[in-house]
Amino acid sequence: MSGYVGRLAPSPTGALHLGNVRTFMIAWLRARSQGGNVILRIEDLDHPRDRPGAAAGAIEDLKWLGFDWDEEYVQSERKDLYRDALAALRGKGLAYPCVCSRRDVESAQSAPHEGDQLFYPGTCRDRFASWDEARRAIAPRRPCWRFRVGNDVPPVAFDDVFAGHFEEDVAKTLGDFPLARDEGGAGYTLAVVVDDLAMGVTEVVRGDDLLAATPAQILVARALGGREPAYCHVPLVVGPDGRRLAKRHGDTRIASYRAAGRRSGEIIGALAATCGWCRTNEEVALRDLLACFSLSAVPKAPCGVPL
Ligand code: GLU
Repeated sequence: MSGYVGRLAPSPTGALHLGNVRTFMIAWLRARSQGGNVILRIEDLDHPRDRPGAAAGAIEDLKWLGFDWDEEYVQSERKDLYRDALAALRGKGLAYPCVCSRRDVESAQSAPHEGDQLFYPGTCRDRFASWDEARRAIAPRRPCWRFRVGNDVPPVAFDDVFAGHFEEDVAKTLGDFPLARDEGGAGYTLAVVVDDLAMGVTEVVRGDDLLAATPAQILVARALGGREPAYCHVPLVVGPDGRRLAKRHGDTRIASYRAAGRRSGEIIGALAATCGWCRTNEEVALRDLLACFSLSAVPKAPCGVPL
């Protein structure tokens, strides 16, 4: 074994589609081509959006496509670990309760921000002595926990294996970001970081929609006394309108192709062609791509729908 540990981290918010699978295929080949281990981690903490049966469906689809893995975890079974990590951050004075609503945060923006990433100026940073005090201040609403980035932290920089150098002046663009929605809960950032550290992940291969989320993850990893993994953010599959693959672009769910009689090799072949590893319309098994896998052959531009 090479010491490389990679992971596939599906969120069971819907069925696996071509976009998810292209990224997983790159992640799996990247690990296996180096004799590394692969972890499957079901990221099911997004309760309002999680769909019943989606995790089992993703596992079935991945196996049908030829993926395998060495360890399997489910985030909803690991909440104690996230609670402990939050307690450790609180102990270091790096997490504090915040009573601001999303609306409060939005109206405090000095410039429009894209996507989910809102700048938070630290309104509640030194405002409450305890969680209970914050809770009483806005009952029945619940506070959240924020990570104290502070005003003096230098920009976070890293060299992404695929996307290249990335640098963000987090004190100016991000501010103190949320860690958990409730007293002992865990949000995406905290859970992902705790898990990547606990599972010994050495490199994270995922879609480049998460590039902007990475500096916060690096800060949390370091605050927990860990070392962040290497990162490799790859382009997404996009529809004809240039936006990330979604229902409006048609049905690209793996289960639907399978139900329509398509073979797994056709799907893998079509996706492999978009990565520059084989000719279009070649039927190929995932494992056979180990012979021609090359990260540098993957185009830098977003990928169109290949099927
Ligand atoms: N579960 C996340 C998603 O499906 C991926 C998280 C990650 O790779 O860090 O978008």
